[in-house]
Amino acid sequence: MNLDERAEEALEALWESLEESARPVPADGIAELERAGLVEAAGTTLRFTDAGRRAARQAIRRHRLAERLFHDVVETTREDMEAAACQMEHALRRGVEEKVCELLGHPATCPHGKPIPPGSCCAAVRAEGERHVCPVSHLRAGEEGVVAYLKTHDAKQVQKLMAMGVLPGSAIRIDRTFPSFVFTVGYSQFAVDAGMADLIQVRRRDPGPSRGPIGKGAPAEISP
Ligand SMILES: [Zn+2]
Ligand SMILES: [Zn+2]
Ligand SMILES: [Zn+2]
Repeated sequence: MNLDERAEEALEALWESLEESARPVPADGIAELERAGLVEAAGTTLRFTDAGRRAARQAIRRHRLAERLFHDVVETTREDMEAAACQMEHALRRGVEEKVCELLGHPATCPHGKPIPPGSCCAAVRAEGERHVCPVSHLRAGEEGVVAYLKTHDAKQVQKLMAMGVLPGSAIRIDRTFPSFVFTVGYSQFAVDAGMADLIQVRRRDPGPSRGPIGKGAPAEISP
């Protein structure tokens, strides 16, 4: 089903109004949803058809994932985030949506604290245990991870981290967390302060034996 953006926004508004009683039923776009068989009148109010509830849940999920993406990764202002999220969500079709969800660590809530309906990717991860993205500073000594993204747009900080080989896709191992933060990337060991360690967002790896340089035999993939 291909709804235009206006109808999809109406669908999201309707979800918030019917499922979360968060806002009044919007007037705009409803006629199209009725024509598409997604909502039906029930007396003086509206309700979702089964297909409508599924479509709305997906639209809300994409919207809130897009918000998280702009908030956590791109670090836009709140106003920019809201405008960008509404455009971005339409690009987050199946497949892409799951990759974004994975990148963000299958978040449970949007930056406003509203629930993000889980997708099948989230259920799979919950079944296999915690494997979410967190700052490298949350890892314990001996733990390994893979750099997911750098939480900064400061050119100097990005350069400094890249010079250490800290790039999305790089394997990283924590060697010490105190008094400074010491980690190994490739064959080199670096020490950074806590502020710097907070910028490095990693996806945890299953704990296992870690000896010698990491990434050996399994070269780090560098994302384009
Ligand atoms: Zn939206
Ligand atoms: Zn939100
Ligand atoms: Zn997910």
